[in-house]
Amino acid sequence: MKVRLGAGDALLLVDVQSDFLPGGSLPVPDGDKIIPTLNRYIGFFQTHDLPIFATRDWHPKNHCSFLQRGGLWPPHCIAETQGAAFPDSLELPPDAHIISKATSPEKDAYSGFDGTQLHALLQSFGIHRLFVGGLATEYCVLNTVKDALRYGYSTFVLQDAVRAISVLDGLKVLEEMERLGAILIHYEMLIHGSDFQPAAD
Ligand SMILES: [Zn+2]
Repeated sequence: MKVRLGAGDALLLVDVQSDFLPGGSLPVPDGDKIIPTLNRYIGFFQTHDLPIFATRDWHPKNHCSFLQRGGLWPPHCIAETQGAAFPDSLELPPDAHIISKATSPEKDAYSGFDGTQLHALLQSFGIHRLFVGGLATEYCVLNTVKDALRYGYSTFVLQDAVRAISVLDGLKVLEEMERLGAILIHYEMLIHGSDFQPAAD
């Protein structure tokens, strides 16, 4: 299968933040390995003048998901800290649209759509197909993909640009996302160069 990109397509990066990379406070094993591939996708979307969106966990210091509050996770992605920042190695363009989530103390959000303006923003850009990569496969990527499908987006999962906390769970949820209607692709499936023709609206 080959995938031709065109108007109405957008790249959506999920939580590619320093705390989720090796060396961070909640590292996804080999999370850094997807960055060169994400940069290729970013370059592709930029070259073809297609919009790029990036979600980020953006927690207050006393967020309910943290262990000291009875949550599941060590403190991570506290707003304005280095750990919450996108890594320097990620070549996010200045005009990428950033969506902060789980910003209030009492509510967590795995999905980029949960409690954010993401859907409205995508609608305002006329987006109907989403290409989703990032971290971690079985948490924020899975929940973002489920919501994208629920909202009616044709949803592609960049299987060469996601990583799971548990490799086994990651494989299972890739199958689950496919069962739910997502399409798993890898970079080589995008149609490149002179073969590329923007779709008509
Ligand atoms: Zn979080």
